[in-house]
Amino acid sequence: MPAMSLVTVDRSILSSYDKMGKAGGPRKDLLVLADSKRGVAVPEVARALLALHNAVTAAGGDFRVTELHREVSVQAAARKRYENWVAAGKPARGSASFNSATMKADFVAIPGKSMHNAGRAIDFHVGMTNFPGVPKDKQLDKMWEIAKPLGWKPIIKAPDESASESWHMDYWGEISGAYDRLGYEQGALCGALLVGYAGEWQTYERVVQALLQRAGYSIGELDGIIGPKSINALSSALGVTPDVAKNKVSAKDESFFATLLSKPPK
Ligand SMILES: [Zn+2]
Repeated sequence: MPAMSLVTVDRSILSSYDKMGKAGGPRKDLLVLADSKRGVAVPEVARALLALHNAVTAAGGDFRVTELHREVSVQAAARKRYENWVAAGKPARGSASFNSATMKADFVAIPGKSMHNAGRAIDFHVGMTNFPGVPKDKQLDKMWEIAKPLGWKPIIKAPDESASESWHMDYWGEISGAYDRLGYEQGALCGALLVGYAGEWQTYERVVQALLQRAGYSIGELDGIIGPKSINALSSALGVTPDVAKNKVSAKDESFFATLLSKPPK
């Protein structure tokens, strides 16, 4: 059982795709994001996404979501295409050595270490936002101006529409502390572990470590090795002796997950 469940996002939020899987069509033809497998997120992200949708809409913009949650198998397939592209020497799109069927010329995170696996990242349709009165090259500036105060964090440094990943934003929320302490990849892994989508890293021991990280315990990387740091943190979090904490972990006890999740995130 994953420690946290994903919930379906609000039905007012649209996918960037229509029934034919085409992007860029009229808004009325677009699929409801909630009707696709990708339309789920952790509860705080589902709320933050609705807040973003409402704020963009209130500013006259057209908000369309390309990706939200990604299953590990989908992530693995995309990562393979990215690796094919790197192995081929990163050929330019449209060049003779670029094969769009087998290659992806944009960064794809390792399966299980993506904020999409964690249900905490969106890709949105950058070219379609159309904020009225805002020049084409300032559309992303406008999106950031709206999104950042709502807790969304763009993955690129400056708002450049043509940059790879200009469409990607993360929501760290209750795992912000883990991100600050561990960096992007381990932070994303922490999120993915909590919802059960960490692929080959999904083990009971790492989930315990992810829960402790979420609660603010500096126990180091999510390495799946329950050493003295993890035991001491668990013992302090649960108010039990280290021996009792150790026995719980040895028995792969999940009954204390809810207690850890009730701790304020740090
Ligand atoms: Zn993305």
